[in-house]
Amino acid sequence: MPIKPKSHAERLYEQNKGNRDYRKENKERYQSPEDLKLRAIRTGSRWRKVRNLYIQQHPLCEDPFNYHKENNETTLAQEVHHVTPARIDTEQFYSFDNLQALCKRCHARRTNLERVEGYPGGDEGEGGVES
Ligand SMILES: [Zn+2]
Repeated sequence: MPIKPKSHAERLYEQNKGNRDYRKENKERYQSPEDLKLRAIRTGSRWRKVRNLYIQQHPLCEDPFNYHKENNETTLAQEVHHVTPARIDTEQFYSFDNLQALCKRCHARRTNLERVEGYPGGDEGEGGVES
């Protein structure tokens, strides 16, 4: 009875499933230099300063969906959104022109829209979580 040969990936997995170094190496493959760079700028002190300054100058939610206007409310901004996502263009990451002060609700909606419709001008709608 012929036995179906195992695929390369299966053999590789069999050979290495007890090998911690191999697992570590493969895990790190998901952290591409690009991912690491994005993570570093998102958590960096320069961004923290820019973000705080932006929020100071734009204390209210910029209301991109006219939601607050329609409801006659003013809502404090809690988060700063990147209009052009960092993964598309890191050059614009610190540019005030590329930022939008949003409340949590508007930011969630904006982020969801981008996930569903894709970023206009970008290649794919999926990607990292925006800050
Ligand atoms: Zn809002």
